[in-house]
Amino acid sequence: MPSKKQYFFKACSWLPFTPLAALNKQHSLFVPIYHAITEERLIHLEHILPYGSKNSRQFEQDMDLLLKNLKPISYDDLLACYRENKPVPPKSFIITFDDGLRQTYENAPEIMLRKGIPAIFYLNTAVIDNKALLHRYKASILLEYIKLQNSESLIKKVQEILIENNIIQPDYYKGIKSINYKNRQVYDIIAHAIEYSFEAYLKQHKPYMNTTQVQDLKNKGFILGSHSEWHPEYWNIDTDEQVHQTESAMQYLKEHFNETHRTFSFPFTDIKTPMRFFNELKKTAPFELLFGSQKLKKDMVPNMVHRFDGDNNLSDMQTYLKALLVFQTINKIRGRSIVQRKLS
Ligand SMILES: [Zn+2]
Repeated sequence: MPSKKQYFFKACSWLPFTPLAALNKQHSLFVPIYHAITEERLIHLEHILPYGSKNSRQFEQDMDLLLKNLKPISYDDLLACYRENKPVPPKSFIITFDDGLRQTYENAPEIMLRKGIPAIFYLNTAVIDNKALLHRYKASILLEYIKLQNSESLIKKVQEILIENNIIQPDYYKGIKSINYKNRQVYDIIAHAIEYSFEAYLKQHKPYMNTTQVQDLKNKGFILGSHSEWHPEYWNIDTDEQVHQTESAMQYLKEHFNETHRTFSFPFTDIKTPMRFFNELKKTAPFELLFGSQKLKKDMVPNMVHRFDGDNNLSDMQTYLKALLVFQTINKIRGRSIVQRKLS
C-alpha cells in the first residue's frame, strides 16, 4: 500500500508549478544541496546519509527539471541582490555540493558546465587531500565493518568501549551513531581495539578531493566555500569554536586556492544556532552569504539563505519543488516561514 508520503507526492505532482511559485513570490530562490554524485556505493556515507548520493543520470535529470522550471543564477548575481537589497529574480536556482567528495568532482562539473549551471562547492578543509576522515564518516565505516565481521565477541568489545566512555545506548549501532565531534576520539579507540585502520580506508578509497582537483574546480569558475574545518555539530560547540571552524576553513581556501569570495554552509544543520554566533562572526570575520538547511524558509539573519536536500530520492525534482512550495505555503499560513533565532 502506498504510504502517506507517497500520496502526498502524488498529489503534489498534479499541481501546476507556476501558480504555486506565484503564491510564494518572495521565496524566489531554490538551492539544492548535494553530496555524492556517483554510481558507486560509498561505505562512508551508507549508514549516516542513506540518501546522500545520486548517480550521474539521476543528477542530470534533476538539472534538466530545474532548468525546465527555474533559471540559474550565478553566485555574483545572487550576492549583488543581497548586497544591494534587491529581490532575487523569481524562480532562480544555484547548486551547492557539501563535504568535498571525490566522486562529485569526477562526475558533476562536466554536467554543470555543459548545461551552464553555476555551483558552490563547500569544503571541509581538514580532509582535503585525504589527510583525515570526518568523524561521521568514521561512524559509517565502522558500522559497515562490524556488520561484515558478524562476530559476537567483536560486538561485545565495541559495547564495552562504548560503556567505558559513557555512551549508553540500547545497542552498538545507536551507540556508534551517537558519538559526536566532542567525543570523536572514541571512534579511534574502537578502531584500534578491533584492529581496523581508517588510514588504510583513506588510502584505498580516497573519499575526498585533493588539492589539484579543488584547484581545477576553481579554474573552471566554480565557487569554493567553507563548510567548517572539521564538520562539527554546531549546536554542540561554543561560539568561539563555531567562529574558528567557520573562518579557518575560509582562510585555508583563500591561502591555497585564492578564493576571494567568502561563503559558508553549516555542517549538519543551522537549527538552534543563536544570534550570538551570527553577531560574533559579523564582528570578527564577516561573510558574504551563509547557507542553512531549512528548505525554502527565510531567516531573520539578512544574509542567510536556506537550502533543501537535492540528493533525497523522495520524488522527481519537479514534484519535489512543488512539495517544497506547498510546505512553504503552509508555513506562511502558520506564521513559520521565517526562521527566528534566540539571542544566545
Ligand atoms: Zn556536510
